[in-house]
Amino acid sequence: MNAVNKDVQLFKNHLVQKRLKLTRQRETILEAFLKTDHITAEELYRKLSGRKQGRRLALATIYRTLNLLCEIGIGQQRHFDDNKTIYDNVLHKKHHDHLICNKCDKIIEFESPAIERLQEEMATRHGFTLHHHRLELYGHCIDWENCRDRQRAAPR
Ligand SMILES: [Zn+2]
Ligand SMILES: [Zn+2]
Repeated sequence: MNAVNKDVQLFKNHLVQKRLKLTRQRETILEAFLKTDHITAEELYRKLSGRKQGRRLALATIYRTLNLLCEIGIGQQRHFDDNKTIYDNVLHKKHHDHLICNKCDKIIEFESPAIERLQEEMATRHGFTLHHHRLELYGHCIDWENCRDRQRAAPR
């Protein structure tokens, strides 16, 4: 079984538990989601509505399916500065933090053992036990031309 089939199987098992079926639509959404890194429901909708489909996918179906993916841990909801819900494909990712461009919405993932350690130290120093954390750093791309190109390519 290759990696993608295994992911589909994981999703299928979860759907069975929920007494839901792996419909063609849900499978299409899963496959598209697994090819992305971070995506909103609207972006996924635009991506899929351009394709030839037997039936058109409803935005509500995409939302529901993305939320199912979050329930099994394939996806994670993120709410960055502008409060849009972004779905992070975390299937093959460990804990990571984010750098977010406020101009073009680019999202960069990073993991720094030094920062992780400092956060633990800070918590301990204040008599606190950390369960989890979210670190989001906001700014804009240094490569300004590229950043503007992205803005033009994907207007809000
Ligand atoms: Zn991420
Ligand atoms: Zn940018």
